[in-house]
Amino acid sequence: MENPVEETKTINFIRKIIEDDLRTGKFGGRVHTRFPPEPNGYLHIGHAKSICLNFGLAEEYGGLCNLRFDDTNPTKEEVEYVESIKEDIHWLGFDWEDREFYASDYFEQLYEYAVQLIRAGKAYVCDLSADEVREYRGTLTEPGRESPYRNRSVDENLDLFERMRAGEFPDGSRTLRAKIDMASPNLNLRDPVMYRILHATHHRTGDKWCIYPTYDWAHGQSDSIEGITHSICTLEFEDHRPLYDWFLDALGIYHPQQIEFARLNLTYTVMSKRKLLRLVEEGHVRGWDDPRMPTISGLRRRGYTPEAIRDFAERIGVAKRDSVVDIAFLEHCIRQDLDRRAPRAMAVLRPLKVVIDNYPDEQVEWFDADNHPKDPSMGTRKVPFSKVLYIEREDFREDPPRKYFRLAPGREVRLKHAYFITCDRVVKDEETGEIIELHCTYDPATRGGAAPDGRKVKGTLHWVSAAHAVDAEVRLYDHLFTKENPDEGGDFLANLNPNSLEVLSGCKLEPSLAEAAPGARYQFMRQGYFCVDPDSTAGHLVFNRTVSLRDTWAKIEKKLKERTR
Ligand code: ATP
Ligand code: MG
Repeated sequence: MENPVEETKTINFIRKIIEDDLRTGKFGGRVHTRFPPEPNGYLHIGHAKSICLNFGLAEEYGGLCNLRFDDTNPTKEEVEYVESIKEDIHWLGFDWEDREFYASDYFEQLYEYAVQLIRAGKAYVCDLSADEVREYRGTLTEPGRESPYRNRSVDENLDLFERMRAGEFPDGSRTLRAKIDMASPNLNLRDPVMYRILHATHHRTGDKWCIYPTYDWAHGQSDSIEGITHSICTLEFEDHRPLYDWFLDALGIYHPQQIEFARLNLTYTVMSKRKLLRLVEEGHVRGWDDPRMPTISGLRRRGYTPEAIRDFAERIGVAKRDSVVDIAFLEHCIRQDLDRRAPRAMAVLRPLKVVIDNYPDEQVEWFDADNHPKDPSMGTRKVPFSKVLYIEREDFREDPPRKYFRLAPGREVRLKHAYFITCDRVVKDEETGEIIELHCTYDPATRGGAAPDGRKVKGTLHWVSAAHAVDAEVRLYDHLFTKENPDEGGDFLANLNPNSLEVLSGCKLEPSLAEAAPGARYQFMRQGYFCVDPDSTAGHLVFNRTVSLRDTWAKIEKKLKERTR
């Protein structure tokens, strides 16, 4: 597992390449990157890494970054995905200005480039079926065989290619292939397919085309057309780089540099769009933006901030080898960010009624509570105290174990911002034996939470005044999968965590939260960081727990430091 180090800007190998190129003037001192999503799903945290890298590097070196939709596969792509991708990139804090491009914008130019290669004897129309092409390709240990159509004349190729475009042939009956080397040790160079016939309607070009370029044919040429300098992609394209270079050299056009880095993997989640799509389509989650999803829209709904995601992306760095990052590190980053910015509030998630017997029946006191213990600029709010309160069920034990410092019979604790109280009596349901309320007394001399005689209490509890409480639904989340590696055992769905969502209803919030707007984030004292879900309506508040307060990453890091000492 990767162990990110606690520092901000690291000189990663990509920065080094760019700085070398700037020094030697390789691209005339320009830095121009692009983020090239395929609009066949929602973006996830792995894409965020790529976005931060591409837009971030451009920003850092005074360059530009394009958004280019890699829309070469009309059957899987949808406008919904295009819109969500744009929203997510903007939300992360990046802007492509007027540079929103589509590979489909270049279909005509790509066609002309293909004709150029045919004329140069470097591409041919092949009548082998997809299965035959695969069979002829050979394996890593065996060279491929040349297609019987490889040596067609230029004129015949030009004619057939034009008729392919005109729609004369059925799907899959012919392809256009680059004429490179069927014996190359790199399978990507064994006469790769450039065009396939596909009578399908495209979300932008409609029915104009029935031949579509492959990724390899479209990508490098699109980079070239846009004047990209550094074409940053993930490691699985390393073996494609010779083909990327071959096409550009064969055409003799402007030649960007492809650079590969290791994709982000996270424990306890999946990152493949195919798998995420299954989770959505089969109803294992509520949608692409389900707060358990590793999608950017899911993280946003969960309460993550763009700053925390950008911080995470920077701190994990970029590497040349694949690795898996502990999801606890992502949670650590959001916790650090929210600790700084989230106002504090009191919310009782599993309420237990407390009656303060010696408190006047109709009295209400409004205490000043700081919104942030370390940041006075965040101000204060008023919190009402009255005779009947709620505390957290788990904050009372009839038979407290050792080191349990919260409330118990005869025990005194502090109610945050208010008074010391002592538990005198427990009321139980006669039939079930369930504790239904506690009777306590308060010490008026401890107003504000300190005793004039200097006596100490070990426990401080959060609480809410029953008469003033606002009801809410609170959704608690756990990892989506029970295994660090969800693919363990072969079927990722078998490792789904049945307890990844717990819905609590009847939670009691302090009244200052009544007007909380969707997206607003808080720290609920002792419970974690929460944010208002868009499902909230005026009469029905819904909160998501972004992350608990317990920082498992901090613990892991401490252990690591001890080990390396
Ligand atoms: P999938 O294989 O799940 O469909 P993809 O890589 O095909 O994902 P694209 O839409 O093509 O998805 O990705 C757009 C960009 O984001 C590419 O440059 C890709 O390399 C990068 N990217 C995708 N997944 C990750 C990841 N896990 N970590 C870093 N970068 C990623
Ligand atoms: Mg892709």
